[in-house]
Amino acid sequence: MILSHRIRLVPTAAQQAYFTRACGVARFSYNWALAEWRRQYHAGEKPSEVALRRSLNAIKDEQFPWMREVTKNAPQQAIKNLGRAYANFFDDRKKYRRGEIAWKYVRVPKFKKKGHRDGYRADNGPDKVHPDALRVLGKRAKLPVIGWVRMREEVRFAGRILSVTISRQADAWFASFSIEVDHEPEVRTDETVVGVDLGITSLATLSDDTPNVPAPKPLRRYLKKLERLNRAFSHKQRGSRNRAKAKTKLARLHRRIADIRADTLHKLTTSLKRYRTILVEDLNVAGMLANRHLSRAIADVGFFEFGRQLQYKAAMAGSVVIVADRWYPSSKLCSTCGEKNEHLSLSERSWTCASCGTCHDRDQNAALNLARYPESWPGSACGAEGAGGEESLTVKPAA
Ligand SMILES: [Zn+2]
Repeated sequence: MILSHRIRLVPTAAQQAYFTRACGVARFSYNWALAEWRRQYHAGEKPSEVALRRSLNAIKDEQFPWMREVTKNAPQQAIKNLGRAYANFFDDRKKYRRGEIAWKYVRVPKFKKKGHRDGYRADNGPDKVHPDALRVLGKRAKLPVIGWVRMREEVRFAGRILSVTISRQADAWFASFSIEVDHEPEVRTDETVVGVDLGITSLATLSDDTPNVPAPKPLRRYLKKLERLNRAFSHKQRGSRNRAKAKTKLARLHRRIADIRADTLHKLTTSLKRYRTILVEDLNVAGMLANRHLSRAIADVGFFEFGRQLQYKAAMAGSVVIVADRWYPSSKLCSTCGEKNEHLSLSERSWTCASCGTCHDRDQNAALNLARYPESWPGSACGAEGAGGEESLTVKPAA
């Protein structure tokens, strides 16, 4: 199993300068390859990331000699990322043609801008000569070319490090390690089942009597502060020192908010692995409604992240994640008698079943329906999907 762990770095000034250069090379290579991809496509050729990597390699020493200052991984991985971006785009386009998603959810590869999601990746790779180009030792990581960099904490998982992505967020640098972990899944004998409804008012509602997981409180306070800082920033004069200061403040707050969201999501997914079977709605569909209808804590951290965490934590705990069919009307079915309420609108938080008279809390009812998904939905006997990284969980992260 491959797990990832993101750790804040404590780089020296020289190391920061190197990171910035490597990010620049990665961005340049990505944009170069994207322009080249588009040109070849319009010329009727068939572009591929492998060919683009080869052609960049062939010309870089002559045309872009400054690329040699940083690890050769930076340009190579950037072009691999472009290949993946195109693969996602082709997937999305297929879904669009099948009428499954709107065009605005199709991820079209775009040019990268400086200062926006800066990052580069380095691989350990199958390199037999230098098998340990990447290494960690306590709170230090050895990276290609620059050597040892200090970290805020140790890597949590034991195993071979496959790759590392160095990225900047506000004024901080992070390393995200991809680690191959040997693990024996636990053998579970319990029959615990839970349906999970991701919600607007609370983060998650479970089908049993576990109290709802509330949306994190500090978030609301920080969101207020964020609005204030945003206003302050926009009123400062362009190019002034005060504006630069306000920008740093704003970026730091963005990071703190992102941390709270990530932390909340980790707690939620960790708490779910105590069940042997976990049933969730189709996150592809949920993800698309995210910004309008779901808790900001999930919507902004992203459904991909929720699915990713749930999947690996469940796999380690020997649990199974079942994703309900996208057409399963978990909100509209009465969990008592099975009658479907066709008229339920998104704003109705509670409703009474016209057939049996049961009064339902919207989220609780949806969670209950998810929990009994396997028996109650036609075709689910063979259509239900277990854990194991299937496509339905690779969802588009919310914007
Ligand atoms: Zn009913």
